[in-house]
Amino acid sequence: MGEAKSDRRGEETIAALEVENQKLRMELKMLRLLFETSNSAFIYYNYQEDKLETMGNWDHFFDFTVAQVSDFEKFYERVEEQNVLPLKEGFFIEKQNGDRQIFEIKLKNGGMCIEVEINIVYDEQRRPADKIIRFKDITRMMAQKDELTYMAYYDILTGLYNRNYFVRLLGEFLRRAGTENRRVAVMFLDIDDFRRVNDGIGIIAGDDLVQLFGQYLTNLMNSNVIISHFSSDIYCIGIYDPCGARSVETIYQVIRERLQKPFRMTDGQEISMTVSVGVAAYPEAAKGTLELINCAEIVMFKAKSQGKDTIQYFDCAILDDFLQTVTIQNKLKEAVFDQNFTMVFQPQCYAASGKLRGVEALIRWKDDHGDMISPAVFIPIAEKNGAIVPIGNWVIEKSVQIFAKWREKYAYPLVLSLNISAVQCKQSDFIESILHILEQYDVPPEKIELEITETILVDDFEETKKRLGELRKTGIRISLDDFGTGFSSLSYLKGLPIDTLKIDKSFVDTLLTDVNTKIITESIIYMVKRLGYETIAEGVETKEQFAYLQELSCDMIQGYYTGRPMPAEGIDDLLKEQTEKAG
Ligand code: C2E
Ligand code: MG
Ligand code: MG
Repeated sequence: MGEAKSDRRGEETIAALEVENQKLRMELKMLRLLFETSNSAFIYYNYQEDKLETMGNWDHFFDFTVAQVSDFEKFYERVEEQNVLPLKEGFFIEKQNGDRQIFEIKLKNGGMCIEVEINIVYDEQRRPADKIIRFKDITRMMAQKDELTYMAYYDILTGLYNRNYFVRLLGEFLRRAGTENRRVAVMFLDIDDFRRVNDGIGIIAGDDLVQLFGQYLTNLMNSNVIISHFSSDIYCIGIYDPCGARSVETIYQVIRERLQKPFRMTDGQEISMTVSVGVAAYPEAAKGTLELINCAEIVMFKAKSQGKDTIQYFDCAILDDFLQTVTIQNKLKEAVFDQNFTMVFQPQCYAASGKLRGVEALIRWKDDHGDMISPAVFIPIAEKNGAIVPIGNWVIEKSVQIFAKWREKYAYPLVLSLNISAVQCKQSDFIESILHILEQYDVPPEKIELEITETILVDDFEETKKRLGELRKTGIRISLDDFGTGFSSLSYLKGLPIDTLKIDKSFVDTLLTDVNTKIITESIIYMVKRLGYETIAEGVETKEQFAYLQELSCDMIQGYYTGRPMPAEGIDDLLKEQTEKAG
């Protein structure tokens, strides 16, 4: 009976154990499944039993197995050198009484990136009981992170640094240069006529060019030379302690040599290009990063204005010039015609008789602070920003208005000379609008002479010639101003629809002291007269100059000697005098 009881109990126990076992097997299966599908590999180590087990997706990670702690050595051979020490320390963090650690390792030869997580479970006496090491494949995540990092620092098109990162690195250069007492140069490069290139070959090929040149520039980068693709066709080079192989001159030379050869686009066509370069250096030009880049940019514009394909170095005059331009540009925006501008008139006299022939209208600008700004300074700026068109219209209207009053008051054959800038002359309604004003004030076109400079002829000689021809057909006279300061070719004068030629002051200045000037001036006057034009000598300041020009049969004289530019009332007085004399 007792036996039967104990047998039954035994059976019950076995059954219970069976159930328990079944449960454990299920749990184990579940755990294994979990481990295996986790995309991770695990090492489980029990301290008490000194038992080590691997689980999960082990083969995905390693081509070796570990069965005991000493097998950890195998890891050290497989990972990159810099990971060995962290791995050794991480595997045994219990030695530092640590609980948990996570770090990244990389397998050798561009292999997998693995996140390693180590957890130690301690018992109540704070003795290590279990260790679980988890390996997780993070290669893809790291690649994405790398890409994001790359995008944060590099320009995808060219592989050069992007603008933000360049500015940061340049800032570091400057700080270092400050403590090490060195210089830092910035070269600001801009592809010449890029818009024309783009228009000619298309935007895609334009991008190609930017990319090819940028990729070439990456070859010049090193720890002391940083290069950035700044924006569309602009590149910026920062050089720490520029000297020897990394001097600005050498780098510029190297780049120029490359540019001697064309770039081959993806579609096979070959494109040549040039660059304009501005250079500014710390600490002379500027002490701050952005200021330094700014200075180099300003200087680059100077290189552009000097005919492109050239390098220009910073000097203070360029910066002053620029600042003045900006100030004037701002002031020009606020200028109010009748309040800020006035007209003065300078007499032009016949050389032979000394009689008044006409007046040249010259603009004067008094800014809000009462400072006089010379037209030689602000007209070129107004030409660039377009303000010359309204200013020029005001000049014409104002001068013609004053001129009409003189005509009413004095019966004197006077000519009004007006300076016309190229931009103004090229306006499509220019002729129409000037004729309209003349009609309004009842002034015959024959009494007006428009002074144009040679620069007007540079851009489009034939077109300008046509326009001048049309103007002359209306009866308006044309005068070529500042002759001798531009490209001064006598040959293009032939057939040019002009009436008068103004010999520039620079000739008159040295007429009596320099034999060459004397010869040139004599021949100009001789030839110009033969071509049938009248001559006016400008900037005549002395009696001797006047007498000599008279001797050369120059037709007319303009200059301080015969009369300075003066307000309208001054000309009034002169006219009164002349008419009284005649009367
Ligand atoms: P420009 O047309 O060659 O005018 C002659 C300049 O020489 C004037 O300077 C005049 O004051 C100056 N001048 C005349 N005689 C003498 C002299 O004997 N000695 C010296 N040292 N200078 C003399 P200003 O008025 O400063 O004008 C400079 C330039 O500005 C003009 O040169 C002209 O190109 C431009 N400009 C003046 N007014 C106007 C205007 O209304 N419209 C346009 N588009 N340009 C103007
Ligand atoms: Mg003039
Ligand atoms: Mg002149």
